Amino acid sequence: MLNKAVFFDRDGVINRERGEYTWRLEDFTINEGLIEFMKFAQEKGYLLIVISNQGGIQRGKYSLHDVDIAHNYLKEELKKNGVELADIYICPHHDKTERCFCRKPQSIMLEKAIARFNIDVTKSFFFGDSARDVEAGNAVKVKSIQIEPNSSLLKYRDLL
Ligand SMILES: [Mg+2]
Ligand SMILES: [Zn+2]
Repeated sequence: MLNKAVFFDRDGVINRERGEYTWRLEDFTINEGLIEFMKFAQEKGYLLIVISNQGGIQRGKYSLHDVDIAHNYLKEELKKNGVELADIYICPHHDKTERCFCRKPQSIMLEKAIARFNIDVTKSFFFGDSARDVEAGNAVKVKSIQIEPNSSLLKYRDLL
């Protein structure tokens, strides 16, 4: 039995893209419509999975621990609304310091999630706010949609 999933980029889709790295809780603002959209998708039977480049870790801007704190906050906020993420995948690397196989636009993070959760790509979506998100999603054949940064996902509800 295959599952279906909605994949989300993080900055600009889940939380506010500020044009700089976001890791402090005071900067981590959940975008309007996000929780409602996730709740809707969850009720429709989609797994919710985050796929995020966090190159600031390897660049020494913040630590993996900082990212965990932000993600625990996100999970708590979602939980208050009965929403649960299946998982959050991050790439901590950055081209400026070390090339890797996971950083989007490469699709390894998506491939890992697809294998682990037995996901039917033809029934799944990836919402991102940059071309590299769409490129990664297209590589694994999930329907990939580039949204305006920080815009509400609710207008895509009918796609699900
Ligand atoms: Mg983004
Ligand atoms: Zn990586």
